[in-house]
Amino acid sequence: MEKYLPKMYQESIYSIDYSKLLKKGIKFLLYDLDNTITTAHNYVPPKEAKELFVKLKKMGFEVMIFSNSPKIRLKKFTSFFEIEGVSSARKPLPGKLRKLLREKGYDTKDTAIIGDQIMTDVKVGNKVGITTILIKPISDKDFLITKFNRFFENRKMKKLAKKKLFYKDRYYE
Ligand SMILES: [Mg+2]
Repeated sequence: MEKYLPKMYQESIYSIDYSKLLKKGIKFLLYDLDNTITTAHNYVPPKEAKELFVKLKKMGFEVMIFSNSPKIRLKKFTSFFEIEGVSSARKPLPGKLRKLLREKGYDTKDTAIIGDQIMTDVKVGNKVGITTILIKPISDKDFLITKFNRFFENRKMKKLAKKKLFYKDRYYE
């Protein structure tokens, strides 16, 4: 298996077909925060994301944020969205993700991770064996560590394109 290849690739968290995910048996959605829900330097939680999460909860999903950002940043978002979150998740290391599934009682086939980076979100998801959904970053402004990751991400994406597996901005389900 290609460890950097996402199972799905969509433009944003708003363009994902969630009823399809539900039909596939997915019940637990883990969202990256930075450049997935909001831009990396924004501290104001977006209202549209809250509306989406309310809708998803009504559909029967459990929704959480799974972010490498520290607690102090994450807290603002989780309290506004009224959902739980894991901060300092240490993606792409699989430890905290495996622990979360165990604690929550979800199986790998029940769970999807949604994020904007193949070096963190997709890699950890594939390693643990959950569904991985890559979305296009909201902004091209990144935290320093992410800038570093993007350099490697571009190289990985080029390799995947050579194998005819993945092309930037060509979305698939
Ligand atoms: Mg991100």
